[in-house]
Amino acid sequence: MAMDASEETLRRAMSDKQAAVDAQGNTVRDLKASGAAKADIDAAVEALNALKLEKSSIEKQLQATITGGSDVGTLSRDAFRQAVGNTLERRLFYIPSFKIYRGVAGLYDYGPPGCAVKANVLAFWRQHFVLEENMLEVDCPCVTPEVVLKASGHVEKFTDLMVKDEKTGTCYRADHLLKDFCKEKLEKDLNMDAEKAAELKQILAILDDLSAEELGAKIKKYGIVAPDTKNPLSDPYPFNLMFQTSIGPSGLIPGYMRPETAQGIFVNFKDLYYFNGNKLPFAAAQIGQAFRNEISPRQGLLRVREFTLAEIEHFVDPEDKSHPKFGDIAHLEFLMFPRTEQTSGQSAKRMCLGDAVYEGIVNNQTLGYFIGRVYLFLTQLGIDKERLRFRQHLANEMAHYAADCWDAEIECSYGWIECVGIADRSAYDLRAHSKVVIAPVKKELGLAFKGNQKNVVEALEVMDEKEAMEMKSILESKGEVEFHVCTLGKVVTIKKSMVTISKEKKKEHQRTFTPSVIEPSFGIGRIIYCLFEHSFYTRPSKAGDEQLNVFRFPSLVAPIKCTVFPLVQNQQYEEVAKQISLSLTAAGISHKIDITGTSIGKRYARTDELGVPLAITVDSTSSVTIRERDSKDQIRVSVEAVASVVKEVTDGSSTWTDVSWRFPAHSHVSIDE
Ligand code: AMP
Repeated sequence: MAMDASEETLRRAMSDKQAAVDAQGNTVRDLKASGAAKADIDAAVEALNALKLEKSSIEKQLQATITGGSDVGTLSRDAFRQAVGNTLERRLFYIPSFKIYRGVAGLYDYGPPGCAVKANVLAFWRQHFVLEENMLEVDCPCVTPEVVLKASGHVEKFTDLMVKDEKTGTCYRADHLLKDFCKEKLEKDLNMDAEKAAELKQILAILDDLSAEELGAKIKKYGIVAPDTKNPLSDPYPFNLMFQTSIGPSGLIPGYMRPETAQGIFVNFKDLYYFNGNKLPFAAAQIGQAFRNEISPRQGLLRVREFTLAEIEHFVDPEDKSHPKFGDIAHLEFLMFPRTEQTSGQSAKRMCLGDAVYEGIVNNQTLGYFIGRVYLFLTQLGIDKERLRFRQHLANEMAHYAADCWDAEIECSYGWIECVGIADRSAYDLRAHSKVVIAPVKKELGLAFKGNQKNVVEALEVMDEKEAMEMKSILESKGEVEFHVCTLGKVVTIKKSMVTISKEKKKEHQRTFTPSVIEPSFGIGRIIYCLFEHSFYTRPSKAGDEQLNVFRFPSLVAPIKCTVFPLVQNQQYEEVAKQISLSLTAAGISHKIDITGTSIGKRYARTDELGVPLAITVDSTSSVTIRERDSKDQIRVSVEAVASVVKEVTDGSSTWTDVSWRFPAHSHVSIDE
């Protein structure tokens, strides 16, 4: 089942070896009990020890297979995560919010370098999506009246399954408890037989697909209890994740903090469609805060209660989901994880996007186009191609509105994390928000109600959406309905032929339809966190006595593009540094001057830790050195040319290798760390 061949082989080898150890143990005991010759006993004990050694070697391999698989160097996952986390917090990339009041779970502040990285990611998002596709960007409020989120289905269905500690009332996410149980068992119980391991792996594969009843049954089956107290747990039940509020002083207008930015776009669809010249397809985009009252926030920036979402709603004719630019990305090849591979226990496989759409694995070209664009976006930001995959949602896992959905998942020390959801939401949202059109059939009403016809028509026309939809469903099922006309002071019978009730639709070329929506939805914090992990590495200091931290951010996302260091504290060099700073500012390059008296090696280490790609060292008044972060190579450039060289490299018009050919190399023996 869902297990790598090597892991399965090792688990089988482990149980075989354990059986051999047990058998040999019995032999030794029997020999001793029967008073056998010492030489025979010694030989049997030796054989037992050899078997134990073999078992421990398999155990080590199995442990490595289970915990390995991620490219985090020689450090273990936990140690790696801790090293990145410490650096991020110490250098103020992000920190827990309200820390001096002991913080609140699931809320984080971005400090200066974190803000800069986030701004760069968002600027690139605008360039890569909004600008490239001529999208219509909007900016809508976070506070949303209840009526909107009722229509969208969030009030009823935006839930996660929760269980409670039956004694203390502490709440947990039911699927997380089951997931933790399976993972821990698989990692720690190396003697578990291969069949049992396959069963647990299968649960992990279909976890998101389980109903409340199925989850409850598994929690009972495995005897899972509250992790903190070991008390029994309640059955799973749905908990709505939206933060409730009320709008205005009366408290009478119920509202919620939006759980996604999408609804702001949907309710403006008609105006945006008009703005676009009543033509499809077109896309709207929005960047903004989203709020979800997560049951048990954990894993730092990955599961928080307030986060930045960047969302695109691409409106398309449901009968023509082709995309004119599909050819541009059809050749891309990357890891894809279709539904069937997941449920049959296989792994993600490298596929050509064009083939995946052609074979119907990805539903349509527009969905495929966005999958390809998201791949390019993430890899250009610095996400490792080998730790990025597109996973199709299982049937039950899809949000209440989605028709097909692929998640861009990035592997980090916490496992594979959904960072972008790319959903074909079909026509759900626009149908939900479209107005009800009530059209009384006057001829029929005139025949039935004669002089009272006008009163009946008026009463029909002023029905609200709920009343109208109720009437529509009764008329459809029973053919007639009792209807109170207050201006007549009586109840009349309305027949199906007397009124048509429908939801507003778009008319294009005389055809009436509700547009479909393809929605790529980006969790910016999750992307940034994975980027931090994929960019982080350590390398020994020159003296070899400590490990130095480096973020290998591409210039595109680096918080600042360059630092300027006068080699020694001296007025002449500081003047040159200021002059260079002015020319960098004029060229629009973010930078920082470091005039502290610490050694140049320490200053390099400090800027490497912030992921600054280039460092200028002022060691003369006519020319300076530029050092590249990852190679630590240096070139010598005149003071006049330095800003334009830095600009070329950091805006991507030249690579470091390109410019290294043009300028003399500078030996860093004397000044580098
Ligand atoms: P969804 O609407 O649930 O598909 O979420 C859209 C995107 O928002 C996901 O792909 C995640 O990247 C991100 N996201 C969802 N929930 C959270 C959360 N609690 N914390 C941080 N990011 C989240």
